[in-house]
Amino acid sequence: MKIKCDFCKTEYTLDKAPNAPVKCAVCGHVWTVARASRRGAILAFVTAACALLSAIVFTVAVVVQSKIDSVANKPLVAEISEIKTVADKDGTARFVVRGAIINQTDKIYGVPDLVIVSRDAHGKPIARQKFLPSMPLLDAGASVEFNHVLSSSTDGVKKITVELQMGDM
Ligand SMILES: [Zn+2]
Repeated sequence: MKIKCDFCKTEYTLDKAPNAPVKCAVCGHVWTVARASRRGAILAFVTAACALLSAIVFTVAVVVQSKIDSVANKPLVAEISEIKTVADKDGTARFVVRGAIINQTDKIYGVPDLVIVSRDAHGKPIARQKFLPSMPLLDAGASVEFNHVLSSSTDGVKKITVELQMGDM
């Protein structure tokens, strides 16, 4: 842990929190170091969880908005319903993105590839990952669910969006 002299602000690195008052080698000031609290760790976790939650809410809002905008000219839409993180077998966090592809028309359509885009705080894409459809055709008004684990890192990812690769349609 790092501690700082209250008086002269000299920094020291300690292996663990001292259980007695410490004396600054530079200015001689004596003070008691607050122990690293579990509360701090829990607060950091809650902050991270809130950031993820707001990212989810934001993503869903964006997807719903684009659905409203595009009903007229996009027959199929993809929606995210849930984003979770899981630890893979190495203990690395991975996003699990669940949602559905919906056919909004009264015609049968081929299901395009689904692209899940991980974005940073500015919305800039960090990683794009493509998934092949689990069914080739989608009946009029029908939907197909997806549930994919992203192999890309969760580092710096603040938003996740989905796109349909309509190239073949
Ligand atoms: Zn000092």
